[in-house]
Amino acid sequence: MSRYWSAVVHGLTPYVPGEQPKLDKLVKLNTNEHPCGPSPKALEAIRAATGDTLRLYPDPNADALKAALAKRYRLQPEQIFVGNGSDEVLAHAFMALLKHDRPLWFPDITYSFYPVYCSLYDVEHRTIPLAEDYSIRVEDYLPRGDDRAGALIFPNPNAPTGRLLALADVERIVAANPEAVVVIDEAYVDFGGDSAIALVDRHPNLLVTHTFSKSRSLAGLRVGFAAGHASLIEALERVKNSFNSYPLDRLAIAGAVASVEDEDYFQESCRKVIATREVLVSRMAALGFEVLPSAANFIFARHPRRDGAELAAELRKRAIIVRHFRAPRIDQFLRITVGTDEQCAILVDALKEIL
Ligand code: PMP
Repeated sequence: MSRYWSAVVHGLTPYVPGEQPKLDKLVKLNTNEHPCGPSPKALEAIRAATGDTLRLYPDPNADALKAALAKRYRLQPEQIFVGNGSDEVLAHAFMALLKHDRPLWFPDITYSFYPVYCSLYDVEHRTIPLAEDYSIRVEDYLPRGDDRAGALIFPNPNAPTGRLLALADVERIVAANPEAVVVIDEAYVDFGGDSAIALVDRHPNLLVTHTFSKSRSLAGLRVGFAAGHASLIEALERVKNSFNSYPLDRLAIAGAVASVEDEDYFQESCRKVIATREVLVSRMAALGFEVLPSAANFIFARHPRRDGAELAAELRKRAIIVRHFRAPRIDQFLRITVGTDEQCAILVDALKEIL
C-alpha cells in the first residue's frame, strides 16, 4: 500500500502468481486454453512475419485483419474493432460505451473482470442474480417501466457456468433495450452457440466481442475483436487512439489473419473439443458429479458429497490444476477446461482415486 496511490488502486487485487504455472508435468485445465494448438497456417504466417519487417511499426488499424474478419462474418471493416485480447477490447468498451447516468447491468455470477473494470473506469453497476439452475433469466434484463439499464453486458455462454442463452433470447434483450448498449461477450460461443454477430446489422445498440484465445487456440498471441454498428466501433477507435495506437503487433496481425482464413482447421478443432467435452461430461456424471449443461470449452461441476476446494486441492497434489472460485453459490463447483482426451482421462482417473 502506498499513500501515493489513487483511491481506485487500493480497491484492486494484487497480481496472484500461480494461475499460469510452468507447464512441465502439469495437467493444466484452469484457464480454458484450446488443447489442439493454432492452425499450422497461422504458425507459418507468424514465422514468415519474423523477418526484416519487424523493424517497421505495424499497421495501427490492422486493416488486413479487419478485412479478413469482415469477409468471414459478412460485415464491413468499419463494423470491426480489434485489440490486444478481448480483455483489452472489453476495457475499451467499458470506457467508451458502458458508463451512463443509469447503472450497467450484468449477472452476479459472471466473468470476474466486469466488476474490476467498473471500479477502474468508475462505472456504476447492478448485478442480477442467476436463476436457481444458474441460467440467465431473460425477463430480468427487460426494462420494467422506468427501471432500465444504462447498458448491459454478459458472456454467452456465461462464464464460469458455461450455460448458453439461445440467440432468440439474446435478441429479445437487445431489442427491449434500444436506449442501452448491449455487449455480448462471446469468448466461448464457437463451442456450441450461435453468434449474435449475425444480429449486428439489425440492432445499432449491439456490440459482440470475440477472442482468438479459445476457439482459435492463440491465447499467447493476444488478439480479440468486437463487431457492431460503425458508430459503436468509432467510439472504441477514439479511445484506442488516445491510449494505445498500436494494439496489435506484426506477428499478431499475420497469425490472426491466417487463422481466420483457415476455416476448415477452425471448424475441425472446435468439433474435436466438443466431442471430448461430451465424453468428459458423461464420465463426470458417472462419478456422481452434477455437471451444468455446457456450450463452452470447459465444464462446471460439483459433487454432492465432496467439498469443491478440497477436490481442487487434492487434484493439485496430483499435478492437475482446475479452477475453484471462493464465491457465494459456486464455491462447491470446479471449472474444468476441456483438454486433450488424454488429459481428461488423467483427470477422471485422479477423481476416481480421490472420491
Ligand atoms: N471474456 C471471458 C468471458 C473470458 O472468460 C475471457 C478469458 N478469461 C476473456 C473475455 C478474455 O480473453 P482474452 O483477453 O484472452 O481474449
